[in-house]
Amino acid sequence: MKTKNKYKLVCGLEIHVELKTASKMFCGCKNDPFGAKKPNIYTCPVCLGLPGALPVPNKKAIEWIIRLGLALKCPINTFSKFDRKHYFYPDLAKGYQISQYDIPFCGPTTLKTTEGIIRINRIHLEEDTGKLLHQTVDGEQASLVDFNRSGVPLIEIVSEADIKSSKQAVEYAKKLRRIIRFLGIADCDMEKGGMRLEANISLKKDNDVSLPNYKVEVKNINSFRYMQKAIEYEIQRQKKILSKGKQPIQETRGFNPQTGKTFSQRQKEGAKDYRYFPDPDLSPIFFTKEQIEEIARDVPELPSDIKKRWIKKYGIRDKCVDRLVKNSEQVKWLEKLFSLAAKKQINPNKLVKAILNKKINCDLTTSVNKALSLFVTQNSKKQLDIRLLEKIVNDVMLLYPAQVEAFRAGKTTLINFFVGQVAKKVGKGVDIQQIRQFFEKKLLKKK
Ligand SMILES: [Zn+2]
Repeated sequence: MKTKNKYKLVCGLEIHVELKTASKMFCGCKNDPFGAKKPNIYTCPVCLGLPGALPVPNKKAIEWIIRLGLALKCPINTFSKFDRKHYFYPDLAKGYQISQYDIPFCGPTTLKTTEGIIRINRIHLEEDTGKLLHQTVDGEQASLVDFNRSGVPLIEIVSEADIKSSKQAVEYAKKLRRIIRFLGIADCDMEKGGMRLEANISLKKDNDVSLPNYKVEVKNINSFRYMQKAIEYEIQRQKKILSKGKQPIQETRGFNPQTGKTFSQRQKEGAKDYRYFPDPDLSPIFFTKEQIEEIARDVPELPSDIKKRWIKKYGIRDKCVDRLVKNSEQVKWLEKLFSLAAKKQINPNKLVKAILNKKINCDLTTSVNKALSLFVTQNSKKQLDIRLLEKIVNDVMLLYPAQVEAFRAGKTTLINFFVGQVAKKVGKGVDIQQIRQFFEKKLLKKK
């Protein structure tokens, strides 16, 4: 057996997403850490973790995580609570993070990828930490803390270790990002840290049925490409260790985009080290069936379902249409456009192509009627006067006798060159097909 096939990837993802609520998770401070002009301006005793300050949960954030849960077809826990997760780090003012331990808002579900189904274990709500800045102050290296991000609502989506390739990891994460954006609950701006990826990576032998007894966590990856690279690198690194008969150390690693390598950060804490317990400052949260149903009414049809429906209803090719679906308003607009086009017997695929090529504007300020009539005008292209066309074609043929010879000798791809020359002379908006046909006739006739 080839060494190449000896080990299989076992990978799960933890994805953190900052919700874009107006205020933070447990206080009234503005939730805009990236827009803040100065450090530590959106802070109060609660998000600074001062003793005695009492947290109050953000209703919107809870509604939004449930909206996501419902969109992903998670069972929703009608009884839920917040727990304290203890660890010490300078960006965590209280010495614990308010998170959810055993009863998250959203229970298990699955997400389809082209390489198979990924099980999602849970989706829970927590608060983000502050941000450490390492700078030189008065000539000395210093670490500064900015608490503008402290207490920003954060959702965590935890998958099972069902991911079998780095490509599948990317597909899964991208699919989630798309859904989250579509629901309008987060921007998922990865560069700013609004969506952060964490991959748990280990390898097992091809014929092993049980999961490996170690895992390596690569934390805080802020791009899909980096995640793919980090996973690929870890596969190679762990393979080397395993093939020597050893076991990779259970640890947390970072990814360096410059070198394309992961590096050791610290040995992993186990769950018991966090000393989870229910936060006594926050009462448990109960939902009635009616409340959940009310949130469910705000869950829009998801892009994948819209795509399926449009293929069936309007005969649209899937790949193209996928790129147009950005939010619910856009969907409504396109829906009107497609249904009007169907009534007028306009080819929907050509229409989609025109939108994708930005030939017609599909922003919501344009009326559907206007967009469609523009499309119709664009597609009834200017037919050139035959005499004018003949003259231009003759000119081009005189200018490029060698190419004419070559064409007649069989290099038929030169037709594009000729058409291009003519199009250059007559300008935009002409029917390329007309020029092409004319040219072909002319070139072949004189043979
Ligand atoms: Zn605050």
